[in-house]
Amino acid sequence: MKEKIHPVLHEVLVHCTCGNEFKTRSTKKEMRVEICAACHPFFTGKQKMLDSEGRVEKFNKKWAKKAASAEGQAEAAPAPADAQ
Ligand SMILES: [Zn+2]
Repeated sequence: MKEKIHPVLHEVLVHCTCGNEFKTRSTKKEMRVEICAACHPFFTGKQKMLDSEGRVEKFNKKWAKKAASAEGQAEAAPAPADAQ
């Protein structure tokens, strides 16, 4: 390695918002993350919705209204698959 051109590599503790902590190496002194392997839905297998603005609710409401009106008009139209 060439001297004086490389940043210093530290061993850092990564803090996740779920409370999980793990060690890695970084040029930063501290790392805070929102999601990690212990809490990401891909690894936990559970579905988690971060819905702070009620967007999912809004969407479902809108969709329910549309589905209801479609039912009254034509039976031939394929019904939308219900979430879950
Ligand atoms: Zn986490």
